[in-house]
Amino acid sequence: MKTVYVDNAATTAMSDTAIAAMTPYLKEVYGNPSSLHSAGQAAKDALEAAREKIAKCLNAEPREIYFTSGGSEADNQALRSAALNGLRKGKKHIISTAFEHHAVLHTLKKLEKEGFEITLLDVHSNGIITAEQVEKAIRPDTALVTVMYANNEVGTVQPVREIGEVCRKAGVPFHTDAVQAVGHIPVDVKADNIDMLSLSAHKFHGPKGVGALYCKRGVPLNTFVEGGAQERNRRAGTENLGGIAAMAAALEEACANMSANAKKLSALREKIIDGLLKIPHSKLNGDRKTRLPSNINMCFEGIEGEGLLLLLDAKGICASSGSACTSGSLEPSHVLLALGLPHEVAHGSLRISLSEYNTEEDAEAILKAVPEVVEYLRNMSPVWEELCNGERKHLI
Ligand SMILES: *Cc1c(COP(=O)(O)O)cnc(C)c1O
Repeated sequence: MKTVYVDNAATTAMSDTAIAAMTPYLKEVYGNPSSLHSAGQAAKDALEAAREKIAKCLNAEPREIYFTSGGSEADNQALRSAALNGLRKGKKHIISTAFEHHAVLHTLKKLEKEGFEITLLDVHSNGIITAEQVEKAIRPDTALVTVMYANNEVGTVQPVREIGEVCRKAGVPFHTDAVQAVGHIPVDVKADNIDMLSLSAHKFHGPKGVGALYCKRGVPLNTFVEGGAQERNRRAGTENLGGIAAMAAALEEACANMSANAKKLSALREKIIDGLLKIPHSKLNGDRKTRLPSNINMCFEGIEGEGLLLLLDAKGICASSGSACTSGSLEPSHVLLALGLPHEVAHGSLRISLSEYNTEEDAEAILKAVPEVVEYLRNMSPVWEELCNGERKHLI
C-alpha cells in the first residue's frame, strides 16, 4: 500500500537537494568551525555561506541570523531575551495570541509565573487577529509583541506587516514565529517590520533539529546556552554544520520554487476542500483564502478525530488532528477552541497539510477515504445518533 503523507505541518521529508548539501559535512568537511587550521576554516566558510543564503531568503543581513536547534529554541530565546531586556526598563507586559504554538505559549506561561503580565489576544472565528487588536493592547510597559506568521493547525496567515508597523510606531519589539511561513509564503523581515523571527528547517524539507533566529541589528539578544563564543556569543555549542548547510540548501530551493509550489498546492487544497465539504455537517476551519497553500483543517460533527486518524492510517493516509504536540491527548486543540469552536465540534478535527511531493492521486485517495471513514464512524457514534434523532442540536 502506498502511503499518502499529508502531515507536512508536523514535519516534511528531506529533499534530495538538502541531503546532498548535508553529506559533505558528515564525511569530508568535518572540522570544527572554531578551529584555526585549514579543516576548521573550511567548516567556518561553509557555515558563513549557509548564513548568507538564509539571510538572503529573508532579506536580512548575515550577521542577523543565529543558528539554533530548531523553532522551539528560537522561540524560547526570542521571548526570554525580550522579556529580560524589557524588565531592565521596568516593562513587564507581553502581548501574544491564544493560538500560538506551545513553544511560545508555554514560555509565556513560565514568564507569567516569573512575574510578567501576559495579554493573549482573542482570535476571530476566521483564525486571524488584526493590527488594531494589537494596537489597543499595547501599553507603556509592553516589553514584547509576539504573533505567529501562519498558524500551524489552521494555516491562517496573520497581517504581520501591519502588526509590525503598529509595534514599530509604539517602539515595542516584535517577534514572529514564522516556522510555518518561511519557505512557503513570501517573508521579508524588512518590509514586514520584524525585529525577531523564528524558523525551523524540518518544516521546509530540511533536517530536524536545526533552525534559526533572526534578530535585527540593534535589538538586544541574550544568550541562554552558555559556553563557547559561537554565534557571536549568543548561542554556545559546536555548530550543527551538516544540518545548517542542509537547511540553507532547502530554504534556497523552497524560495526558488515558492510560487510554482504555492500554485500547485492551492489547486490541490481547493479540490480537497470542495470534496470534503460535500460531507454533511462538515466545516472548514480558518479563513478559506488567507491561509497557507498547503493547509486544510476540517471538522466533522459527531465523530472523534482520534478514530478518524487511526482509520485513515489503516488506509495508508498519514494526517493529523491538529498539532503533533496535542495528538495523543484527548483534549481538543487549543487553536480550534481559540477560534470559538465548541468542544464537541473541535474533537472531530482533521488537519491535512500538503507538500509539493503530494499528487493528484493523493488528493483522490483522500477524497475517497475520508467520506468512507466519517460515515463508518458516524454509524457507530451515539452522539451522531442523538444528532440524527433530534435529541441533540446540530452545531455545524
Ligand atoms: C514546528 C513548529 C515549531 C517548533 O519547531 P521545532 O523545530 O520542531 O522545534 C514552532 N512553531 C511552529 C509554528 C511550528 O509549526
